[in-house]
Amino acid sequence: MENKKVYIETLGCQMNKSDAERMYGMLEHIGYTQTENPKEADMLIINTCSIRQLSEDKAYSQIGVWGKMKKSKPNLKIVFAGCVAQQGGKSILKRAPYVDLVLGTQRLYELPNLVKRIENGERVVSVEEKPFEESDIQINRVKGINAWVPIMEGCNNFCTYCIVPYTRGRERSRKPELILAEIKKALAEGYKEITLLGQNVDSYGKDLEEGQNLSWLLRQINALEGKFRIRFVTNYPTDITDEVIDTVIELDKVCEYFHIPMQSGDDYVLKKMNRRYDYATYKKICDHIRSRVKDVTITSDFIAGFPGETEEQFENTLKAMTELELDYSNTASYSPREKTVAAKWVDKYIPEDVKTERLARLNEHNRACCLKSNKKYLGREMEVLVENFEVRKNGDKVITGRTRNNKIVHIPCDRDLTGEFVNVKITNARTWYLNGELI
Ligand code: SF4
Repeated sequence: MENKKVYIETLGCQMNKSDAERMYGMLEHIGYTQTENPKEADMLIINTCSIRQLSEDKAYSQIGVWGKMKKSKPNLKIVFAGCVAQQGGKSILKRAPYVDLVLGTQRLYELPNLVKRIENGERVVSVEEKPFEESDIQINRVKGINAWVPIMEGCNNFCTYCIVPYTRGRERSRKPELILAEIKKALAEGYKEITLLGQNVDSYGKDLEEGQNLSWLLRQINALEGKFRIRFVTNYPTDITDEVIDTVIELDKVCEYFHIPMQSGDDYVLKKMNRRYDYATYKKICDHIRSRVKDVTITSDFIAGFPGETEEQFENTLKAMTELELDYSNTASYSPREKTVAAKWVDKYIPEDVKTERLARLNEHNRACCLKSNKKYLGREMEVLVENFEVRKNGDKVITGRTRNNKIVHIPCDRDLTGEFVNVKITNARTWYLNGELI
């Protein structure tokens, strides 16, 4: 088989990173090897993200550069994949005439066949929605200790700011036997942490046999042999069941960590966002989880400057963040996305400078929450799964890893213990990480 080289540039979330690992695996099967250098590649793939305008612009500017490369290398193939591809479809071929293949998110598993077609000179668009149809896929995982494993895809919620239901389609669960086979393989390859991925993991199994839900799946995975950890992201606040909370408490491998996007602390804004809860409900959910799961970490997402958000409504978000003592939050200013409901409220858009200023205040509160959260663990003994080893410029040797509840810990250590579980005493708390010593 001819040895060709492929380079993939991935933008956006973990789901996209996981898709890239799958693309590399499938392409290896048809004679492509991975390269880190786009200049030596025979095929360039941009795996796009459409969650924010900035990310979409970045994708087009990147393929613009690649289009110029094609002038001196006419056989170079350019693939435009991911969420922007799903949304843009045919129009991308017009906008970027050097693109050979537009690959939608739900057509990932057809990549090998589609590549054969573009190698024969066709220009192809494949973006129609369809259910999961995967066979025994090869996955070229990024080296490390954590394996990302998608369990479901899509979303039925249609929050008014969010593009995901348009780019990833409606909720679809992967078959449990495929998930378990993938996890067994990852464990056999030495991965020590399995993170289950889905836009709304609580919906897992709704389209499968009765009884096959997230808790059930966690039990199947927990029963696999060996010492490893299990995490899952993302939860929709009101969809988290007591059964899942019980599972986290009972199962030794499932970590004490929930990522529960709140988006705003103001009831009126939440309603405009089409989120199905108010502040009091979200607080009740957090309090309930905290009262049941010892040392649980709860992280969240927030948007600053949603259309029509008043200063007072924004301050309710700041208040919520502090009152809930969230351990960490991803923050972003509102970015209008075509097709979404909120994008049409142009007269309610918040000026850029106000959004920037609100985001800065949100980040300031986030930093304070993180530091407060980290300080809770001073003096505590915790189990850390080591993720890497580095020799710093000053000669210090340090291992870095995470606790079960997802806190990053730096530990002085002479040896590379990557992939090992070590017990650590926490000696110092910083905003973004903890320091510890081996015990
Ligand atoms: S639940 Fe999440 S993925 Fe679904 S529409 Fe809302 S923000 Fe987007």
